[in-house]
Amino acid sequence: MFKKFDSRISRRDALKLGVLVTAALGMGLPLSLLTKSAVAQDLGTEQLAFLFDQKKCIGCKLCESACRSANQEARDEQVKWRRVLDNGGDEGEGHFLSISCNHCADPACLTVCPVTAYTKRQDGIVVHNAEKCVGCGYCMYACPYHAPQLSKKTKRVTKCHFCYSRQDQGQQPACVEACPKKALTYGKLSELKKAPGGVATLKGLPSPTITNPSWVIIPKE
Ligand code: SF4
Ligand code: SF4
Ligand code: SF4
Repeated sequence: MFKKFDSRISRRDALKLGVLVTAALGMGLPLSLLTKSAVAQDLGTEQLAFLFDQKKCIGCKLCESACRSANQEARDEQVKWRRVLDNGGDEGEGHFLSISCNHCADPACLTVCPVTAYTKRQDGIVVHNAEKCVGCGYCMYACPYHAPQLSKKTKRVTKCHFCYSRQDQGQQPACVEACPKKALTYGKLSELKKAPGGVATLKGLPSPTITNPSWVIIPKE
């Protein structure tokens, strides 16, 4: 069980989000929009995914810091696009989990967003458009992985985009590139699923049936 992972949003955050929804409505957002869901594009069969090998991770958090360095928006103090969680063990000995947005096959964020700020690319990457975002927080409620996070600075949500610009230029995602132990890799989900011992969740994490996340975890016994 990961002590720092709770898929439920706290009461305090819920109250804050209530204020934000009111603010969004105050900005003149039509009520009809609040009930309209975005429709996912045709995805094809090339869904990209992360593979996290818990056996190899030493908890150094270089993936976390690489994400911050590579992405201007991820330098906001209130947000952390990639997080390394632990179960209390020492560096090199504990059970760690490096987690970001899972670019789910059924992205709850995209489904609930009233202003279609999310799109899903043909390669399955779920992209958030901050220009469209009104900061209502619905996606923060909906995502079981706490991937969309509110920037207090911009009053809009922000999240991992799988370094699609880097990928489009033939580079690896920054977090993957930075991992010294190759504990974090990426590729086509259909290929990664063939990894021996790979699973889609761990004890204490949400059920994969909620959003069909695009990740494979190789658990450390
Ligand atoms: S992990 Fe959350 S934010 Fe990412 S695609 Fe899935 S539901 Fe959306
Ligand atoms: S991206 Fe999230 S916070 Fe922004 S408008 Fe959509 S649901 Fe609301
Ligand atoms: S893929 Fe890119 S944006 Fe996403 S967590 Fe890794 S470094 Fe950050």
